[in-house]
Amino acid sequence: MAAGHDDPPDLAGALEASRREAHDLRTELEETNRGVVALYSELDQQAEQLRLATELKSRFLAYMSHEFRTPINSIRSIARLLIDRVDGPLTEEQAKQVDFIQQNATEFAEMVDDLLDLAKVEAGRVEISPAWFEMVDLFSALRGMFKPVLTNPAVNLVFEPPPDIPKLYTDDRKLSQILRNFISNALKFTVKGEVRVSARLEGPDHVTFSVSDTGIGIAPEYLGSIFQDFAQVRSPVQRRLRGTGLGLSLSKKLAELLGGTVQLASEPGKGSVFSVTIPLQLEGAGAP
Ligand code: ADP
Repeated sequence: MAAGHDDPPDLAGALEASRREAHDLRTELEETNRGVVALYSELDQQAEQLRLATELKSRFLAYMSHEFRTPINSIRSIARLLIDRVDGPLTEEQAKQVDFIQQNATEFAEMVDDLLDLAKVEAGRVEISPAWFEMVDLFSALRGMFKPVLTNPAVNLVFEPPPDIPKLYTDDRKLSQILRNFISNALKFTVKGEVRVSARLEGPDHVTFSVSDTGIGIAPEYLGSIFQDFAQVRSPVQRRLRGTGLGLSLSKKLAELLGGTVQLASEPGKGSVFSVTIPLQLEGAGAP
């Protein structure tokens, strides 16, 4: 709208100036707006690229792990045949070498399994199948699983009978997988003392499982990163006991799938406590 004839000249000028200012401001705003929209679409594109890259990585890992399984399994079976002397006797040296092949193939198979599990979790393809179960049953299954691998008489594996803990409604296989990782690490890094598995109620509707050991412990600078993929502590013991560095990161992801979290407290030279806290009943699973 143009300034009226009666407007005093200074007022008309001021009006015109503020109109121009408003116009400039609007133009500037529109430009900023366009910039923001462009930025958003760029972000969208990058998010899409990231999603694609993650999916490709997961697919590659899944494919590779799957393809590795067959040859590894045949190496393991043939080594087993040789160890069992099915085709005749072995010299002492040959027996040592075949044992070595068997051990390494087993380690490799474990690594492939971990990679495949990680890829499945990342691709959102892990199915959670909750069911009701008693904790004592979980503990005795774990006790049975570890009995054959307890080769060091200086380390006791103790399952503290769970106190008054109600039945759980969650995926017991995933929970067992997390605890198995914690227990086998604890046994691996403990030369003397004990590995203790316990459970306690956490508030009205959560439970915490802990695996404590009297092993080498973990230096404070590693505590923050130990649950990340491929994280391993740099130490002479670590170098001797090779692993994949995938077990804990998988455990963390599995715990999250069960609606829970993992924790770690450790003191070098004294030992570590790895824990997982999960809801007694998996939310959204439609517990009856
Ligand atoms: P891996 O054992 O296959 O290397 P993990 O993800 O299970 O991979 O563990 C990562 C690292 O964390 C291990 O290599 C080890 O350095 C450290 N760690 C795990 N558990 C313990 C433990 N109970 N005591 C000392 N160090 C541990």
